[in-house]
Amino acid sequence: VKPKFDWTLRLPEWIPQLVESLTGRLSDDASKMAFVIELARRNVDHGTGGPFAAAVFEVGSPRLVSAGVNVVVPSSCSIAHAEIMALALAQRRLATHDLGHPDLPNLELVSSAQPCIQCYGAIWWSGIDRLVIGAPGDVVERLTGFEEGPLPDRWAERLEDDRSIEIVTDLLADEAAEVLRQYRVRGGVIYNPS
Ligand SMILES: [Zn+2]
Repeated sequence: VKPKFDWTLRLPEWIPQLVESLTGRLSDDASKMAFVIELARRNVDHGTGGPFAAAVFEVGSPRLVSAGVNVVVPSSCSIAHAEIMALALAQRRLATHDLGHPDLPNLELVSSAQPCIQCYGAIWWSGIDRLVIGAPGDVVERLTGFEEGPLPDRWAERLEDDRSIEIVTDLLADEAAEVLRQYRVRGGVIYNPS
């Protein structure tokens, strides 16, 4: 097998149409979180990845910059978590590695679940101004069996103190947890490569 010299991650084909149909009226944190939870639910329904979704929005605006779902299994890629997809697509769309660039509006990441250790690091370096979380990490671990990894002590406070990222936790946590529960009931990802 020859080495490869490039790679691409791609969201499921059903994403663009759903995003189009749901955006435009996402005026507050709760409606943005409900949108993200719906993406996670559809990802489970379609069998296109894990029960997680995230999106980047302009703070205080309904404007969606990017959306992502977990595509780890279909992509054969352990880093393809929802937060990574949303952050990378926002950076690609805005043509910058720094979502905190002074020319940009303030940006927020809305995630259906608490970030794992990998996504915590990605958020740390992303430049976003705000993080909104649905299901807490202990609920994710209990309902899915996935591990979050060893997050630092006071991980949320450190994002606020060291990176000036405002954090909202446990928003629509029950609704977010219900998607995780459904995922477990279905026995995990059923990837259909057709
Ligand atoms: Zn993650």
